Amino acid sequence: MCRHLGWLGEPVSVASLVLDPPCGLRVQSYAPRRQKHGLINADGWGVGFFDHGEVRRWCSAAPLWGDVSFASVAPALRSGCVVAAVRSATVGMPIEASATAPFSDGSWLLSHNGVVDRGVLPATRAAESTVDSAVLAALIFDRGLDRLADTIAEVGAADPGARLNILAANGSRLLATTWGDTLSILRRDDGVVLASEPYDDHPDWQDIPDRHLVDVGVGRVELTPLKGSS
Ligand code: GLN
Repeated sequence: MCRHLGWLGEPVSVASLVLDPPCGLRVQSYAPRRQKHGLINADGWGVGFFDHGEVRRWCSAAPLWGDVSFASVAPALRSGCVVAAVRSATVGMPIEASATAPFSDGSWLLSHNGVVDRGVLPATRAAESTVDSAVLAALIFDRGLDRLADTIAEVGAADPGARLNILAANGSRLLATTWGDTLSILRRDDGVVLASEPYDDHPDWQDIPDRHLVDVGVGRVELTPLKGSS
């Protein structure tokens, strides 16, 4: 995924997070402002959210900007915990809905913004797709999200060229890593947004430094340097 967004807070509509903001994921699908790798995110999109504890997902291999059915339904989808992404496929990776984040193990939703050499990743449970991000997600699910920081540091050491920005949520917690790409946080009165780039020009957006773990719970945000950060 090349741009992702997570929400933890009061129930809000998916449209208000993804489609309505002036520089939200819909606009980022054709005009991202801070993307360092790739120009547009036209290779698909995915939205996952928690609905009374159940994971719900809607993924597509088509560009988000043209999906009028999703635009019609998204105002009616409300959740207090959302992970959404738009994709710029890495060269050689499949373009299909199952290669589009968020991935899930049934408890967590997970998006990866970056690239990793699948050859360095230890064998795991079956991944949802052969795309590098799905294989990495399977490893993270196997290891457990409580060990996300260690897993990312280990993969980063095994593949020094990897970019490993992860965003994951389980309904009551939002976790993210920065490893080679941008991430910003917005603390609103009704919740917290983590996003690859700000969806508007509100002055409260703050940039997260590279090689950090962000751990968001209800009323709590913790920032920790990852192993391998200078
Ligand atoms: N490598 C992943 C893919 O091909 C993610 C790409 C990205 O972050 N741009 O989908």
